[in-house]
Amino acid sequence: MALTAVKGFNDILPEESARWRHIEQTARRVFEQYGFGEIRVPVMEKTELFCRSIGDATDIVEKEMYTFVDKGENSVTLRPEGTAGVMRAFIEHKLYAQDPVARLYYMGPMFRYERPQKGRYRQFHQIGAELTGVTDPLADAQVLHMLTLFFREIGLSEPTLQINSLGCPDCRPAYRAALRSFLEERLGQLCDDCKRRSDTNPLRALDCKVPGCAEATIGAPSVLEHLCTGCHEHFTTVRHYLELSGTPYSINSRMVRGLDYYTRTTFEMVTGLLGSQSAVAAGGRYDGLISQLGGPAIPGIGFAMGVERVALLLGNQDFSTSPDLFIATMGQGERDLAFRLMDGLLKSGFRIEMDYEGKSLKSQMRRADKLKARYSVVIGENEVTGGSASFKRMNDGAKTETALTVDGIVLLLSTTEL
Ligand code: ATP
Ligand code: MG
Repeated sequence: MALTAVKGFNDILPEESARWRHIEQTARRVFEQYGFGEIRVPVMEKTELFCRSIGDATDIVEKEMYTFVDKGENSVTLRPEGTAGVMRAFIEHKLYAQDPVARLYYMGPMFRYERPQKGRYRQFHQIGAELTGVTDPLADAQVLHMLTLFFREIGLSEPTLQINSLGCPDCRPAYRAALRSFLEERLGQLCDDCKRRSDTNPLRALDCKVPGCAEATIGAPSVLEHLCTGCHEHFTTVRHYLELSGTPYSINSRMVRGLDYYTRTTFEMVTGLLGSQSAVAAGGRYDGLISQLGGPAIPGIGFAMGVERVALLLGNQDFSTSPDLFIATMGQGERDLAFRLMDGLLKSGFRIEMDYEGKSLKSQMRRADKLKARYSVVIGENEVTGGSASFKRMNDGAKTETALTVDGIVLLLSTTEL
C-alpha cells in the first residue's frame, strides 16, 4: 500500500507555499517595522512547561497535546502554541537583563490532537509576536495596531478585531464566583467538559463550541462589569488609543480564550468566512506568566495567527513567481546557444526556462504560456546566423528585435513594462 501522511498533517505544495511566503514576508516586514526581532525556539519542550503555563483545565492540556515519553524516560510535548516556549527562552537566556522591554516574533509549526477539518489540523502553523516589560495600555494598543496593519498590508478586509478584558488576580475571583453561581443553576444544560470544569474553570463555558453551552450561558454575568478600578482604567485607555490610531474594533465581553495565562486585554481577529473556525488570530496580555514560569515579575502581551486560516482567506490568489523568459529552440544545433544564454541570464539574476527534451515548437510555446513567462523567444538557424531574434512580450504580443547576447537580453528584460 502507498504511504500517506499522518492524519491532520498536511503537505504545503508550491502554489500554496507561495501564498504562505506572502503571509510570512508581510509579517516579517510589518513586525520588524515595529521593532520586533525573530526568535526561533524548539518545536518540542518538557511537558511541564505547557501544563504550568497554559493551565491544566484547558482543552489544550486536557486533550490536545502530543505528549510522549522519549528514550530517556522524559515526558516531552510537541508545542501546541508558541508563547510558552518563547517565554521559557526569554527567562532561560535572561533576555530581560539589560532591558525588560523585549519585542519578539516567531513563526512555525504547532501541534494539537484535534479533529481535522477545514481550517483545523493537527500540525498547523502560527506566526506570533510577544512584547514584554510594559504594563502601559499603549503597548496593548500598539500590538493591536500592528496586527490590524498586517491584515491590511496583506490585502484582507476580513477579519475584524474584537477585544475584551479578563481582569486580573484581584478582580477575577469575584467574577469567577459570580459566573460559577450563574452556571450552578444551569449545570444540566452544560456539556460534560463544562460541567466538570464549572468549579475549577467556569470561564471555559463561555468559549465552549457545544450549542447547549452557548445557550446556557446567554445572560451570564459580564466580566467587564466585574473589573477592578485598575483593570477598568486599563481597558478604557486601550480603547482610547485604538480610537486615536483609527483602529476599528468591537467589544466582545464573552471572549475568554483557551489558555489560562491571560490577564486584562484579550482579543481575537474574527471572520465569518471560515465557518466555526472563526478566529484567525488571537492573543492577550499575560502579566503573570513570566513569574509563574520562574522568571522575574515582568508583564507581557502577544498574539498568534493561524497561517492556514489566513491562507484560506486569501483564497486562490496566485503569488507564485513566473519566468522572465522562455527560450524555445527549433533544433539540436541551436540548443548550445540557448543553453549558454540561459546560463548567463540565470547568473544575472533572471528566471529563465527552456525546453529539456527537444519537443515540438508548439508544445514548447504551450509550456511558455502555462508557466506564464513574461517573454518568449524562438531560436532557429536564421537567428543563430543573424545574431538576433524577435522577443515576444507574452501579455500583449509586442515584439522586439534583440541581439542574442546576454547583455542584449538583460537590457530588454530590465526595461520596465510600457
Ligand atoms: P479555536 O477556537 O478555533 O480552536 P484557539 O482558541 O484554540 O482557536 P489559539 O490557541 O488562540 O486558538 O491559537 C491562535 C490561532 O491559531 C487561532 O486563532 C487559529 O487561527 C490558529 N489555530 C488554532 N488551532 C488550530 C488548528 N488546530 N488548526 C489550524 N489553526 C489553528
Ligand atoms: Mg482550539
